[in-house]
Amino acid sequence: MSPLELHDHHEDDEQIDLFPMTNEQLKNLLESSEGKKYFEGKKKEIQCMDGRLNGGDGMGGSGILYDRDPNNSELPAPELLDKLKKRVERGELTKITWHKDCGAAKIFLQNNGNPNPKKEEIIEAAINFSTKLAEALGLPFEEAEHAGPNHTETGIYIDSTDRFTEISKDGAQLRNGFVLSPELTEKNFNYHIKEVDIAISISFDNPHGPGADKFSPDNKYFIMLINDPNKPGYFGNFKSMIEELIERKYKKYSDRIEIMEVNPQI
Ligand SMILES: [Zn+2]
Repeated sequence: MSPLELHDHHEDDEQIDLFPMTNEQLKNLLESSEGKKYFEGKKKEIQCMDGRLNGGDGMGGSGILYDRDPNNSELPAPELLDKLKKRVERGELTKITWHKDCGAAKIFLQNNGNPNPKKEEIIEAAINFSTKLAEALGLPFEEAEHAGPNHTETGIYIDSTDRFTEISKDGAQLRNGFVLSPELTEKNFNYHIKEVDIAISISFDNPHGPGADKFSPDNKYFIMLINDPNKPGYFGNFKSMIEELIERKYKKYSDRIEIMEVNPQI
């Protein structure tokens, strides 16, 4: 990287306010009547959970890390594919997307014998998976719009409502976070805990993320379970699964991470 690029990167970082609101302010906003505008519905597409994208249902790499079909390793396990097919039949899913610099696609390659994948290999893996998934569902696929090279997520939204978006239709924006959509898998929390793990690792330990030094007991990372009033008890023991993950893998950051529940008026 040239000195000029380093300088530009620094300027970018200076311009981004990672904490435009505290965790408490974020919770209060989402629980207020004004907060309803963040629950007006998503685009009918699967996109990555990456916070640089906005608007669809989020899964890491559009599902690239989900267990595979034992008879066809290019596709997710039939249990997920069947659920997605039902969504397509109901008209709730019309497109699959991929994006550049996908951390989940990189992890997929690392888990499959390529410890240091090149940029082009990551793009190829992301396109390959979303193409195969789209073909299996009879849907189009396309590249998702992408906000920029660096991760600015300071938390994780885990959305049980299936209507939550970080940017409302009038353009108002919440704290940037990863968006996980357990409705897509009909609550396979054993899978979604892997996504929580990836999100924390990108935010705290990845050179393209904000970095652990950005978080403190005053500026905590949030892990937000967004409740749906029509689905009581939705998250079951997921909160304790997250606590166990933090204890096991991120104990040194535990005073900088807050698990929160939010009850929007929807
Ligand atoms: Zn991604």
